[in-house]
Amino acid sequence: MSPVISLDNVTFTYGEKVAVRDITLDVEAGEFLGLIGPNGSGKTTLLHLMLGLHEPDSGHVELFGEPVGEFDDGQRIGYVSQQSTSQSGSMPVTVRENVTMGRFAHVGHSRLTDHDRKTVQEALETVGITDLAERRMNELSGGQRQRAYIARALASEADLLALDEPTVGVDAESRDAFYKLLDDLNADGITIILIEHDIGVVTDRANRIACINTELFHHGDTESFVESNALTEAYGVSGRVVHHDH
Ligand code: ADP
Ligand code: MG
Repeated sequence: MSPVISLDNVTFTYGEKVAVRDITLDVEAGEFLGLIGPNGSGKTTLLHLMLGLHEPDSGHVELFGEPVGEFDDGQRIGYVSQQSTSQSGSMPVTVRENVTMGRFAHVGHSRLTDHDRKTVQEALETVGITDLAERRMNELSGGQRQRAYIARALASEADLLALDEPTVGVDAESRDAFYKLLDDLNADGITIILIEHDIGVVTDRANRIACINTELFHHGDTESFVESNALTEAYGVSGRVVHHDH
């Protein structure tokens, strides 16, 4: 089986600024990959390259075995962008309407079927927000809004979830519940890529880690990352390891 994502020698610059240099790595089906690195290290840019939202200056990207530029099966991917959970957005759509948008890739412009409505309902149940279904998105807390975005990705029956700092603006209790939900989804076979600044969360949850600072400093299973010097190397001498003993 081909990897879900394959990056081969990928480089990307904004004008003169090299944001991602010469990165080669594969994400296999079923992985929970933690993508870490200091602020401005190119994490968001790398995720955009993986999903075909940026075109690399050099190198090659494949998504589900196809060159990313030719990939057109968008419903296989659930993407929660950075800040989407802390911004309310101006559209006064309800949670159910937002989640239903996840079905549009399947139904095109035709009418929603009972199966579509059932899939939406199940997605709301999975993330635990059935009671919020008729509330407007802009009335939710950060944690509730983030669940709505995940439900939307689930409703689209995505098999890859890409999350860019999804717990910014979310309270500690909701965060824990959210990471439990990610574990369950991953156990169900959904591939997850998580950008998260709390390294303790990443080493607790992810089974593989990519540590970058423009270049790739480490890519491997969580154990090999913890035993390596990649963190101090990538973060420099001022970097501090966050230990979590729980
Ligand atoms: P991270 O997500 O790790 O914080 P980013 O991928 O957002 O890093 O940014 C990587 C580098 O590229 C940073 O130096 C950032 O300032 C720069 N950068 C990001 N977006 C742009 C842009 N639109 N134009 C110019 N430079 C950018
Ligand atoms: Mg970022």
